[in-house]
Amino acid sequence: MDIHEYQAKEILAKFGVAVPPGALAYSPEQAAYRARELGGNRWIVKAQVHAGGRGKAGGVKLCRSEHEIQDATNEMFGRKLVTHQTGAEGKGIYRVYVEGAVEFTREIYLGLVLDRSSQRVMIVASSEGGMEIEEISAKRPDSIVRSTVEPAVGLQEFQAREIAFSLGIPAALIPQMVRTLQGCYRAFRDLDATMVEINPLVITADNRILALDAKMTFDGNALFRHPQIAELRDKSQEDPRESRAADRGLAYIGLTGNIGCIVNGAGLAMATMDTIKLAGGEPANFLDIGGGATPERVAKAFRLVMSDENVEAILVNIFAGINRCDWVAEGVVQALTANPVDVPVIVRLSGTNVEEGQKILAKSGLPIIRANTLMEAAERAVTAWKNDRKQNTRMRAI
Ligand code: GDP
Ligand code: MN
Repeated sequence: MDIHEYQAKEILAKFGVAVPPGALAYSPEQAAYRARELGGNRWIVKAQVHAGGRGKAGGVKLCRSEHEIQDATNEMFGRKLVTHQTGAEGKGIYRVYVEGAVEFTREIYLGLVLDRSSQRVMIVASSEGGMEIEEISAKRPDSIVRSTVEPAVGLQEFQAREIAFSLGIPAALIPQMVRTLQGCYRAFRDLDATMVEINPLVITADNRILALDAKMTFDGNALFRHPQIAELRDKSQEDPRESRAADRGLAYIGLTGNIGCIVNGAGLAMATMDTIKLAGGEPANFLDIGGGATPERVAKAFRLVMSDENVEAILVNIFAGINRCDWVAEGVVQALTANPVDVPVIVRLSGTNVEEGQKILAKSGLPIIRANTLMEAAERAVTAWKNDRKQNTRMRAI
């Protein structure tokens, strides 16, 4: 789960990371008022969206008066900010963060990630802050310092000093840098984060180390033990289709094609999408109903997939190991009886109780297209989708 910059700064500050004074606003008037409260005569106004690259996309503005703040935020509120991380649809701006502008002499990149190969938290830093890490690793790979933390002892001072030395931090600022690194590590560890990124971490003109930006991502599976973090979830930044599914305990990924997929297991979902593409179609989404799919769960899945108006055919592909094909079939029949759909439905069942499952589908009298193999299912789905589309176009023409 992602959180906003201002939230990440508030958390990191509690762990000893220095951040500029700032305040949140929900309207242009409030932004100007916040600036007056903060004092000073230069402010940075920052769109709060769950994505990086805001600076280049017009989501970070330097303002010299309350008037300029009103103008800048009038441009932002209610708009979608499109950065290279948001995709073409962008992310809505509903909050802005106002900070006193800071003069700095150096920008540093600092990131903490979970390194799967060493199974440790890895600190990644570079003296070339300001650029995205991808750009740094392409243009100045030699500037990148990496260091993994031994979990039994945590980030030791000597290790933090070593990182600070390799970044060329001036001697007088080493203790501050050590505090910053240790604060980030503790926040990461104590709160079950999967990513902490400060870019840029700056050395100010008056010789302080300050986090000008902050991003944190948390492990969704650990949120149950951090209610104060779970509360920071902002649904306005999520794909509404995915939030709706998450609220119902289903894993849903929204895509851009027309064939909705109801599948059990992420691996089978990938294979199903590949096969649909191979057959000449494009998946609209995939919904993983998981193991032990009861008829109620299947029915719920149908409602969710149908709520996506791009869906013009539904492919149900179940390999029942833990699941039972007869339950899934029961669920499909219940869902389609209660809420008939106006798109072709293709069902492929395999595994436990497959014969019973097939019988239930056949007996239902519903216009379900059945298939035995995955390839057959994908081909039938694409053919049915194309025919249905032609028919609809003809009907519209009449
Ligand atoms: P991002 O583009 O989403 O990563 O947003 P950032 O918060 O990193 O802001 C983009 C850029 O704006 C930074 O790399 C800085 O160069 C600049 N910036 C941000 N805050 C300040 C500030 O207080 N003073 C100055 N002079 N520049 C800032
Ligand atoms: Mn940044």
